[in-house]
Amino acid sequence: MTKQFDVTSIGQVPVDIFARVDHDFLENNGFQKNQCNVVKIDQANNFIETLKDTLLLAGGAAANTAACLSSLGAKTAFLGVTAQDELGAFMASTFEKSNVYYPVKALETNKGTDRVFVFVTPDGERTFASYYGAAHDMTPDHLDENIIAASKILYIEGYHLNALQGDAILKTAIEIAKKHGTTIAFNPNDVSIYKKHQSRVDYIMARTDIAIMNKDEAKAVTGKATAKDAIKQLSSKIDTGAVTLSEEGAIAFDKGEQCHLPATSKTVKIINTNGAGDHYAAGFLYGIANNIALEKINRLANLCAHEALQQHSGRPETDLSRFLEAL
Ligand code: ADP
Repeated sequence: MTKQFDVTSIGQVPVDIFARVDHDFLENNGFQKNQCNVVKIDQANNFIETLKDTLLLAGGAAANTAACLSSLGAKTAFLGVTAQDELGAFMASTFEKSNVYYPVKALETNKGTDRVFVFVTPDGERTFASYYGAAHDMTPDHLDENIIAASKILYIEGYHLNALQGDAILKTAIEIAKKHGTTIAFNPNDVSIYKKHQSRVDYIMARTDIAIMNKDEAKAVTGKATAKDAIKQLSSKIDTGAVTLSEEGAIAFDKGEQCHLPATSKTVKIINTNGAGDHYAAGFLYGIANNIALEKINRLANLCAHEALQQHSGRPETDLSRFLEAL
């Protein structure tokens, strides 16, 4: 089958709601700082009513990556659901604007479109509280076999394991990808996902061709104490991947070759680190899909991540394809 898409991504389609809070707020709500916490509808509605000066932006880890891929010039599709509400319409419009093919119809559900609250504490750190609404109503039937079959790479978001049928959806997607020779890429997204869904993450990792994650996730999924040992273990099991190291840049590997590049942005004022990993993943997947040399891929991915650090949104605000000329 002709591979019409470079990358098809599967994930949550949430609106990110940014709010400034103090540390007591995190403690009173029992949130793990810097991690992804999950909240139910009552708590989500309560936040909407009580939080002041919130900022709403399109979010979603794999959805951010899909938009970045498109900005780089990749042909990309996205599979994930919204509800038939205002937020759902907003999210669908963002895919259209960024030229990401999004064929999934909004669901008739009273759970509403997903939301991720991004709580920014006075120290500038971010703590997430994710509300899964429509995502809980997604089933494997919402996957489109033809689209996955027509993609070079299927990019799977770990956050989706928190959805009610997340495990079944991702397993079905993997089966379809294997059937059609589509390369499987996976990002666990957060240490909390590994803690909650260890055997499911292990199942996916055993079928993954390209693994992308940050150093904390790499340590969690390999059970190693240091990033160095985690990367050694990962690259012995999976052919291709990257481990991001925040201000230390990232280590990329591909079939025995390894390349460490420092971050390109040490001197730049960082506005927000949210979305840096998603931008990195887009650069990396673009490079693999287009057979670019590993060192250039790592440079491209770091340049994309650097962009994310200088803006509030996890979606691309500039044309990322300009970085291709500088490789
Ligand atoms: P995640 O956002 O998934 O936790 P990282 O924090 O490792 O991932 O960041 C991803 C990439 O973003 C890094 O590889 C690097 O290019 C860039 N980056 C992140 N934080 C910084 C920082 N403080 N200084 C410079 N670059 C950074």
